[in-house]
Amino acid sequence: MGVAGAGALAASGLGFDDALAKSTQIKQKLRIEGAKELHSVCPYCAVGCSLVAYTRAKSNGTTELLQIEGDPDSPVNEGRLCPKGATAMQLAVSPRRVESPLYRAAGATRWQKMSWDEMLDKIAKNIKSSRDATFVTTDGNGNTVNRTEGIAFAGGAAFSSEEGYFATKLMRGLGLVHLEQQARV
Ligand code: SF4
Repeated sequence: MGVAGAGALAASGLGFDDALAKSTQIKQKLRIEGAKELHSVCPYCAVGCSLVAYTRAKSNGTTELLQIEGDPDSPVNEGRLCPKGATAMQLAVSPRRVESPLYRAAGATRWQKMSWDEMLDKIAKNIKSSRDATFVTTDGNGNTVNRTEGIAFAGGAAFSSEEGYFATKLMRGLGLVHLEQQARV
């Protein structure tokens, strides 16, 4: 008892009591305390690491995103994320996030904001005119090819299998032969 008592005194003298009190305080003020836990997948590459997002409903009816981290239950990443995935939260909260389509005309030095409708119309018109201008019906040997050589398509690594399938179908339907995927770049 004497030794234990001396040990307790020594521990107290070393400031362990303070440390314990502070750690209890920190535990009680956990940023994600009472938060809703949601599961998702990192959008950046085809590895498909799993994420856990913590959110909390605010009194004004909006939802606050508190934290995003690797999912320890995932057999893919076992809680880990690469530096890119570890910044996934910035997709939602960064003030530098681009929130609308930007267009820079040929030769221009500045980007200009466009609405999604304007941008989609522009892309559709460009696809139509490029396809019309570069469509090849037969190759040099006279074989029927019906292909579009003036357009290339690059898919995003965040594509699901279904989106990838749909994009490939659409592009092949237009006659594209140059398809690439960001995960391979
Ligand atoms: S970008 Fe990084 S965290 Fe995201 S899926 Fe790929 S390897 Fe995982």
